[in-house]
Amino acid sequence: MALVNENYLKLPGSYLFSEIARRVNQFKKDNPEADIIRLGIGDVTRPLVPAVVEAMKTAVDEMGRAETFRGYGPEQGYDFLIQQIIENDYKPRGVTINMDEVFVSDGSKCDTANFQEILGLGNIIAVTDPVYPVYVDSNVMAGRSGIYNEKGQFDNIVYLPCTEANGMKPELPKTRVDMIYLCFPNNPTGMTMTKEELKQWVDYARENKSIILYDAAYEAFIQEAHIPRSIYEIEGAREVAVEFRSFSKTAGFTGNRCAFTVVPKEVMAYDGAGKAYSLNSLWLRRQTTKFNGVSYPVQAAAAAIYTEAGKQQVKETIQYYMENARIIREGLVEAGYKVFGGVNAPYIWLKTPDNMSSWDFFDKLIRVANVVGTPGAGFGASGEGYFRLTAFGTRENTVKALERIRTRM
Ligand code: PLP
Repeated sequence: MALVNENYLKLPGSYLFSEIARRVNQFKKDNPEADIIRLGIGDVTRPLVPAVVEAMKTAVDEMGRAETFRGYGPEQGYDFLIQQIIENDYKPRGVTINMDEVFVSDGSKCDTANFQEILGLGNIIAVTDPVYPVYVDSNVMAGRSGIYNEKGQFDNIVYLPCTEANGMKPELPKTRVDMIYLCFPNNPTGMTMTKEELKQWVDYARENKSIILYDAAYEAFIQEAHIPRSIYEIEGAREVAVEFRSFSKTAGFTGNRCAFTVVPKEVMAYDGAGKAYSLNSLWLRRQTTKFNGVSYPVQAAAAAIYTEAGKQQVKETIQYYMENARIIREGLVEAGYKVFGGVNAPYIWLKTPDNMSSWDFFDKLIRVANVVGTPGAGFGASGEGYFRLTAFGTRENTVKALERIRTRM
């Protein structure tokens, strides 16, 4: 008799997006004429930039000729891409990363979900609340949690509330934790941390021999010069932090799939006797066993964002989204909402008026303004009373949606 992995049975159904779809469909059925605008999506809408398309086409042609055909590539990624990552994403920020510390992959979702595999099951994990659900669910599947309780949280996971009271910035855990998931710029709150704030986390991790799993998937949206783009800009971070980056939102690769994870050689985890093991070696072992690399045309396409033309084109796309973010943020402020994010991130996190629940606000927004967003409660208990709008829509829809919110809500 095959036994099931009972950890999977602890997971509640993935309720958020199916419930949104159900309510939108019902509304459409009842109001077939309504012109619905979706500002709830976390997916990009702008196409790949020309430099990326050209590079991908050239690479496909190479694959079609015997002289330039490539089979399996290195599991860690091609040197031509890793070199560009180091030269463009890290060197200009004063950060030294070595070639064998970058692992190219097909997404930050899988990397943030899989990385826990090389760490002990007895570790206590800490996540912010609200949170990108992948960090929690992947640890539940692995067996690092208790049951899903009546508060809508898992036992044995440390939740760090991010609320209006702390300006959406998590406070250091009161009890010892071993693995800390941080995401900045944050999904869903759109907030960032300063170097000084991030330094407290690095210091905590160094003191407690914990690991910080730092998700910087939205790094490209940072506009303010003083905000760190990488956790390695913080002194000591190379000893304790793993960083996840993605081309998904940076360059419209959500359907193309390319990302990378940085694992400095100094990051260690320990056995029961206190002996240290390099996570870089363990992650290499894991990837070479379970992963066969990202396709050559996709890596060639990713490398094209670091050419002069590619940089310029990608920057224009990001500015397009960030102008949407500005329109949403300023429109909401003008309409009297309390808002977070939207300055260095494509997400705007608003406090629902009159203590309305996230779902009540969702219903009112679609009914009155015909605009769809994402209820904050779907990201965790502390997201209740908040609501997420995204800047990934078209300009026309964004302007129209804000006009409706200002005049109708
Ligand atoms: N990390 C965060 C915080 C995200 O919001 C997302 C996607 O929405 C991802 C990672 C996934 O990125 P990828 O497309 O590289 O898997």
